[in-house]
Amino acid sequence: MTKNNNQIISKKNRKTAIVIGAGFGGISLAIRLQSMGFKTVLLDNRDKPGGRAYVYEIDGYKFDGGPTVITDPNCIEELFTVSGKDMKDYVTLLPVDPFYRLQWEDGQVLDYNNDQLFLEKQIGERNKDDVIGYRKFLEYSKDLYREGYEKLGTTAFLKVSQMFAAAPQLMRLRADRSVYKQVSKFVKNEKTRQLLSFQSLLVGGNPFATSAIYALIHALERKGGVWFAKGGTGALVNGLISLFKDIGGEVILNSEVDEIQTSGDIATGVTLRNGRVFISDLVASNADVVHTYSKLLRSHPRGLKYGKSLSKKRHSMSLFVIYFGLKKPTPKGLKHHVILFGKRYKELIAEIFGKGGKLSNDFSLYLHAPCVTDASMAPVGKSSYYVLAPVPHLGNADINWDEVGPIYTKKILNYLEKYAIPDLNKNLEVLHTLTPFGFRDIMNSHMGSAFSVEPILTQSAWFRPHNRDDVISNMYITGAGTHPGAGLPGVIGAAKATASVICDDFSIN
Ligand SMILES: Cc1cc2nc3c(=O)[nH]c(=O)nc-3n(C[C@H](O)[C@H](O)[C@H](O)COP(=O)(O)OP(=O)(O)OC[C@H]3O[C@@H](n4cnc5c(N)ncnc54)[C@H](O)[C@@H]3O)c2cc1C
Repeated sequence: MTKNNNQIISKKNRKTAIVIGAGFGGISLAIRLQSMGFKTVLLDNRDKPGGRAYVYEIDGYKFDGGPTVITDPNCIEELFTVSGKDMKDYVTLLPVDPFYRLQWEDGQVLDYNNDQLFLEKQIGERNKDDVIGYRKFLEYSKDLYREGYEKLGTTAFLKVSQMFAAAPQLMRLRADRSVYKQVSKFVKNEKTRQLLSFQSLLVGGNPFATSAIYALIHALERKGGVWFAKGGTGALVNGLISLFKDIGGEVILNSEVDEIQTSGDIATGVTLRNGRVFISDLVASNADVVHTYSKLLRSHPRGLKYGKSLSKKRHSMSLFVIYFGLKKPTPKGLKHHVILFGKRYKELIAEIFGKGGKLSNDFSLYLHAPCVTDASMAPVGKSSYYVLAPVPHLGNADINWDEVGPIYTKKILNYLEKYAIPDLNKNLEVLHTLTPFGFRDIMNSHMGSAFSVEPILTQSAWFRPHNRDDVISNMYITGAGTHPGAGLPGVIGAAKATASVICDDFSIN
């Protein structure tokens, strides 16, 4: 018998599971399925696992491709405990303080961390009435966290009745309003409003359009802290992959799934592009949801119909990311996570999310300087970084990134030299970029969206693609495209929700 967390499958009736995609959502689901007793195979099209958390290694520099702000370490630890293992044997999380430095072009900075008095001092210096407003906002955010994250974050919304049941609480908390609108009710200073609203961008949400539920991220960060995996997010990916293999799971890389095979309304397995066939009792996809339905399920009427409908939904913005290595150490005083706000906030975000058809002249940036916390991310005496700018996805702006990319790179690096890293250009040793084309072509993301289906109220919970398909009864979704959505706590939570549906479907007790 395989036994875990009261969930048991008898070995002689051992079921098999295929998970398509080794992003955090796919790995987390694969771990849960394997520990529930399924013989699980995890397939990914790339040569390394991680998906958006892919690691680029160039001339001794290590660059985490995507997620670097690790929040809610408990949801990660749970993957080890459900597998009967100890996280400490696989990965070390280091605290990051401040969580972020926010800086503006007028020279103002605000260090956001977990020290209430320090935060209040910085907020009060901008507007003394905002200190009380901030305290009230924190309580509001904690309330959202309890309702939106603790109660609903790992619940699969398969029936509309579940949505109705949750609605009164969500309406009480003004989920119908935007994050920015709710934040503005509590605090007046524009920079403090930016401090409390920008986080929704980290999960692909426009703070002026996404539901105020996402203001829970502030409480999530305050409660669980912000962490960095020793050795980078890639070390966390590798730790989870080791865990999966240690409990008997199989990972097969360089394996692009071409099609999910079906017989009637039952998934029977998958076929790879190289022709290899896998038969299984269930198929779960961590790949982009439009890709999953339109491409992988193209031979089933469900795939064509739902894929078309999903492609018309609003999708999150894309990102332009520059990974660069400098032949000098990180400058003194630079923080690990820095948000550099440009001149415009609301207008810029409207252009990024709108059907503007062009790239704005200005930008706001997120700068990641991992050597501040862990010098091993670059060769001795050198330093590695990435900087990202949110940009429109390819459906909103048909930009030729092969042409625009090099010009945009220069502009961003010059800006960083002026505002964050003196002498950047003359110390530049290594450079790599990821554009919306990369999200589209390497990760199969619809229109190059970096965060999948946009998290607005009418595309949340039951309105999001379901954790189990409505027609194909043994096909499941995990990752950013299903409930609750993008971000590491989101996709790890989605995997838990999907695993619990599978547990019920296969009568695992
Ligand atoms: C640059 C960037 C920075 C971010 N920063 C943060 C952060 O600091 N903190 C945070 O919490 N979140 C962050 N996020 C968001 C977070 O990284 C994502 O929401 C999350 O990693 C998505 O995980 P996923 O499992 O849904 O999918 P993915 O990571 O996209 O994984 C899906 C995998 O499926 C593979 N695949 C696709 N099609 C096929 C196929 N046909 N066959 C086989 N494999 C296939 C893809 O190549 C990919 O490997 C960031 C995102 C980006 C892009």
